[in-house]
Amino acid sequence: MKDVIESCGVPHPEVDLILVDGRPVDFDYTIGDNAKIEVFPVGDQYTQWKEKRLQPNIIMIFVIDGHLGRLARNLRLLGFDAAYDPRADDQQLLALMKSENRALLTRDRRLLMHAIVQHGYCPRSQKPDEQTIEVLRRFHLLKSIAPFTRCLRCNELLEKVAKDDVIEKLEPLTKMYYEQFRRCTGCGQIYWPGSHFSKLQKRLQEIHTRLSVR
Ligand SMILES: [Zn+2]
Repeated sequence: MKDVIESCGVPHPEVDLILVDGRPVDFDYTIGDNAKIEVFPVGDQYTQWKEKRLQPNIIMIFVIDGHLGRLARNLRLLGFDAAYDPRADDQQLLALMKSENRALLTRDRRLLMHAIVQHGYCPRSQKPDEQTIEVLRRFHLLKSIAPFTRCLRCNELLEKVAKDDVIEKLEPLTKMYYEQFRRCTGCGQIYWPGSHFSKLQKRLQEIHTRLSVR
């Protein structure tokens, strides 16, 4: 079944329900003669056979292919664990996906069709903000958004720090105008609600607005 579906160009992680003559089957089902096959994507369009779905609804950790850097950054901005290394090759992506049980995000359908991929998604849009919205919807992440909790550079969590602890590293104007700081537990990058954050805040608001319109 899996091979037949993928020969039509649809990667198996995109398939949530397969019916043969109206009955649900798995990917390893062997197709007989004259079978009527229906294949459904992930989504709520079809309400029956909820217990026979092939894809989990919610996954909150990801590995992201090297072409989707801005999507990775957006997901980190929203607080999600998004492993991303632009130098990683396909084998390294797949190895990380498997060892940490991450969902693979890639626009390379062939990669998504790889046999060891269990969970993944192919963003349809070429625009990073649209891609972000697609991923939030696909994996039901709306209620788990936690902005400014994760480092945009290295993906580790941020911790609140006292101004005194970081004051030596701050520029004079930052010292003067800001009181609240966070520091990355991985690379040590310091974050504060300055102009950088307000730009991000604007992008966050845009994402929220677009999510609520549809
Ligand atoms: Zn960091």
